[in-house]
Amino acid sequence: MHYFRYKGKKLYCEDTPLETLTGKFGTPLYVYSHRAIIEHFEELKKAFSLVDPLICYSVKANSNLAILKTLIKQGAGLDIVSGGELFRAEKAGCVYKKIVYASVGKTSQEIEYALKKKIFMFNAESLSELQRINDIAAKHNKKAAVSIRVNPDVDSKTHKYITTGRKETKFGVPLPEAERIILSRANLPFVEIKGLHIHIGSQITSEKPFVRAINKILNLLGRLKQKNIRLEYFNIGGGFGIVYNREKPKTASALAKAIVPLLRKTRMKIILEPGRFIVGNAGVLLTKVLYLKKSLNNKLFIITDAAMNDLLRPSLYGAYHNILPVVKRRSISALPLADIVGPVCESGDFLGKNRRLYCQPGDLLAVMSAGAYGFSMASNYNSRCKPAEVIVKGDKYFLVGRRQSYKDLISKEIMVDV
Ligand code: PLP
Repeated sequence: MHYFRYKGKKLYCEDTPLETLTGKFGTPLYVYSHRAIIEHFEELKKAFSLVDPLICYSVKANSNLAILKTLIKQGAGLDIVSGGELFRAEKAGCVYKKIVYASVGKTSQEIEYALKKKIFMFNAESLSELQRINDIAAKHNKKAAVSIRVNPDVDSKTHKYITTGRKETKFGVPLPEAERIILSRANLPFVEIKGLHIHIGSQITSEKPFVRAINKILNLLGRLKQKNIRLEYFNIGGGFGIVYNREKPKTASALAKAIVPLLRKTRMKIILEPGRFIVGNAGVLLTKVLYLKKSLNNKLFIITDAAMNDLLRPSLYGAYHNILPVVKRRSISALPLADIVGPVCESGDFLGKNRRLYCQPGDLLAVMSAGAYGFSMASNYNSRCKPAEVIVKGDKYFLVGRRQSYKDLISKEIMVDV
């Protein structure tokens, strides 16, 4: 996390002390580095420059409008998975021709919405969805551009909840079915099959699963070629891993070195859908220590004002996030191991386990690497308000998400005396 560094005892984002931000906006608070977002995007662009891909940032990783706008200004398209994300893409000013739309369960309304806006293409995940897209396109007398999401049945060696390219998962269609669909495309006259899509998982640290999956696609392309069928686009999804703890993910250039030669063989226009790689290490969650307590068996708990509703990844996947003091205190030898936990009424509510961290009530902690699947997975569980969000640019900072109020929590409810 190059843009979150200590200067003396204080942790900074770029040139701004994090303490200044909590003083101004309170806690829990998400803070993002503008420079990190742009650099990660540019790093991928450069690494894959030989195939000059369209990079469609995956909105689900962090859907804040200011982040979308930042990336759109850099030339990014967007990868969306719902009507809500299409609405965000519109509000952030993305041109429709750079929007790709995946999801195993697009509703008719969502398909209609995307079709009317003339998005670049749907990534269709089943034959029944293709038939639905065809019928809706027919109703509007339009032709829908589509890629077939293929499930290549490869193990991406990541957490099972974020593995999406194995045959057991719900995503995409098996290779033989994709081939059958393409061969019988005349049955879908209002759909134009323009390409293939894969997304084999998230937080993938090796190039090997990508190589295996792309090779399988190359075989399919070979068979199609024999039948004189050529497709224009190949979307290899996202999934590029980042460092949370001691992982050693392949760098973008090492990854590109392994897969670009294969991509060039396809002679297709390449699309990438990175999410985590761009924003994961561009954000932190700041929280205040409320209390310290010990259990009967002497376990130390550091209770913070951030919880699983603010950052779900530790509870959901047992994900590791480094946790650092926002202002370093003197180091104390023989620190006990502590669990950093939130106020939510679940034993699974924790931000970190068995950490050696010296702190006192009132101290501030930074949960690192929280830019991806952090705020976007936040909820109102326990009627807790979602945190505020700030983007830092050098020594300037901008509030890009207001903290929810209690009023917001009930704004959609109707008090009926039934
Ligand atoms: N594309 C698709 C279809 C996805 O489902 C996801 C994440 O789930 C992504 C791209 C982004 O993945 P990542 O954040 O790992 O790059």
